[in-house]
Amino acid sequence: MNLSLLAKSVTRVVARGQNGVKLPILIYHRVHPEGYPLPTDMMAKQFEWQMSLLRAYFAPLSLVDALEQLQQGDLKPGSVCITFDDGYEDNLLVALPILERYQIPATFFITTNYIEGGAMWNDYIWESMRDTQHQEVELIELGLGHYSLASEGERLQAGKQIIHAIKYLVPTERLDFASKVVNKLGVHIPKSLMLNADQVKMLHRAGMGIGAHTQSHPILHTLSDNDAKVEIRESKTILENLIQAPVDYFAYPNGKRDQDYSQRDVDLVKNEGFKAALSTEWGVSDRNSDLWQLNRFTPWDDTVFKYLARMWINYYR
Ligand SMILES: [Zn+2]
Repeated sequence: MNLSLLAKSVTRVVARGQNGVKLPILIYHRVHPEGYPLPTDMMAKQFEWQMSLLRAYFAPLSLVDALEQLQQGDLKPGSVCITFDDGYEDNLLVALPILERYQIPATFFITTNYIEGGAMWNDYIWESMRDTQHQEVELIELGLGHYSLASEGERLQAGKQIIHAIKYLVPTERLDFASKVVNKLGVHIPKSLMLNADQVKMLHRAGMGIGAHTQSHPILHTLSDNDAKVEIRESKTILENLIQAPVDYFAYPNGKRDQDYSQRDVDLVKNEGFKAALSTEWGVSDRNSDLWQLNRFTPWDDTVFKYLARMWINYYR
């Protein structure tokens, strides 16, 4: 199958089901500038060809417009939404100019604690792997192994294994663990990894959507009712005060149902006055989808063909 035929079949044929046109919502996290050391996410060039493809063969639109059209049943074939989770500074510095070049709107889900500085626990690990001068590290006293850090591949592997091992610890323990790794590797966590208050406002002023993603990025369903409510409510209030506009959408941290959030959290999000919420369960949405658990997927593919094929597969999930 050639490229334009695949693109046409994705946007025109499979995009329409018995419940009307289907809506794919894509999730991005970081977009690294070219030459970034030890890249753990998408590079600017890859993001750029993906956006050029969406502009050429699809109809990218804002989440507000897409959800309104979805509910009214007048969504156009090829509609697609772009979202970013967590609130990385590179979203403004690297991704925004590309989005603007292709006139693609996006919604950015911000974890509000990092507006004041600091970094997410997983970035403690990645920044350590990136910056350390050590060629190996011993984490046996932390219940992990011995890792060689001599090559980029070994650093990537070590980072993935450490993150996997500590992901579901309670947040204070997890941060404590990540801090020990940082100390052990003799590095400093950069202060400017995440968007600050002015940068969030700049995204908003550029016409991009701002959504809530909790204060501290916890595994919501492990929290008490009150703690979960505070995480959800405060992230909305802080962002609304910052941008002086309503924040109507929420993205569940990590985003897998029953593993990362539960029905209790869906109810909390509804009660806090959001208009819709997004998970990270794969698939697309249609008129009958649950507005409080809209599916999304990550298009990390490194070739145009695979990227389109994934869009195609997701229409059938
Ligand atoms: Zn997140």
